[in-house]
Amino acid sequence: MNFRDLHAQYLALKTEIDKAMIDTAMRGDFISGQAVTELEEQLADYVGTKHCISCANGTDALTLALKVWNIGPGDAVFVPDFTFIATAEVVSLEGATPVFVDVDASTFNMCPDSLEKAINRVKKEGTLYPRVVIPVDLFGLPADYPAIRAIADKHKLLILEDAAQGFGGNIKSKMACSFGDISTTSFFPAKPLGCYGDGGAVFTNNDEWAAYMQSIKVHGKGTDKYDNVRIGLNSRLDTLQAAILLVKLEAFKNYELKKVNDAASLYTACLKDHYTTPFIPEGYFSSWAQYTLILDTTAQRDALQAHLKKHNIPSMVYYPKPMHAQTAYKHLGYSAEDNPISDRLSKTVLSLPMHPYLTENDILKVTETIIEFENSN
Ligand SMILES: *Cc1c(COP(=O)(O)O)cnc(C)c1O
Repeated sequence: MNFRDLHAQYLALKTEIDKAMIDTAMRGDFISGQAVTELEEQLADYVGTKHCISCANGTDALTLALKVWNIGPGDAVFVPDFTFIATAEVVSLEGATPVFVDVDASTFNMCPDSLEKAINRVKKEGTLYPRVVIPVDLFGLPADYPAIRAIADKHKLLILEDAAQGFGGNIKSKMACSFGDISTTSFFPAKPLGCYGDGGAVFTNNDEWAAYMQSIKVHGKGTDKYDNVRIGLNSRLDTLQAAILLVKLEAFKNYELKKVNDAASLYTACLKDHYTTPFIPEGYFSSWAQYTLILDTTAQRDALQAHLKKHNIPSMVYYPKPMHAQTAYKHLGYSAEDNPISDRLSKTVLSLPMHPYLTENDILKVTETIIEFENSN
């Protein structure tokens, strides 16, 4: 059994993916080719934004947004403490300061109350200027945008939605990647919609920002490539990746998203009386980048992981260290008590195999092995 089965997906889509790759080779439009434009149109249409701009990866996507907003030294950017490093790293790379906000114990996502407290604390301290909040749609579940939007409006902050894991999710049919003033996603192979290497995209309804990001992603180009009006990046999505994504997007829309939700429902039905299973609030829909249990203690979590491993079932700890505990962020001086929920989750979570090609038998094998572990302890 695989944690994510990209091989099974390739076999299911092989004819079309092979054709897409060969067609690209035949056309030879490897950079900014036809498939890139087509993909951007389809993605914007799917998430319901005016613009989609593809780029080299999900980290650059966040950077493009921060550059458009001219985020830099002296600016405070609020990020969840419990996330992948890229969410915070991009802030530091621009010279701004990430402020780590605790998360909600049941959704894993940024806690609106903790956000407001953090904003007020920064304002009171007076050394940093609050500019942006980056909610993350962790494990596929959209963050609490209704509450976060109200707080952001009140304090005049921009929202940058990090939907690297959230593509395909929604809140009352409003799609992930449409909640931010700018939103981003990643096409890293293991994400809900992944390509065969690195890839990413930004989404916005703002024409000016879209034009600016089109420029920055190609060396700050002006009217043409050799007219450079600002300092930018080399951050294009390869045509080959776009061609593969066009095939995968169809499968994602047609059945993959449904299949991961069916898998999650079966996991939850089997496990909910034994362990803390993922909580999906009313009206929310997850794209299940991960299916994550919360155990009582680190010892229990580690023992369960070892038990699964003994039965050849892969599992992962996302994430073993919150941002504030990363060596790279020691200098900010946070302690575990500042964000106790992020600290506790990092010590007790365990993610199970999750992908659209899991069979019912696979899932039952996982859940039976987990229940057998409970009974033996
Ligand atoms: C994967 C990920 C990113 C970065 O995406 P890349 O394409 O790997 O650069 C950013 N934020 C979160 C929450 C992620 O999971």
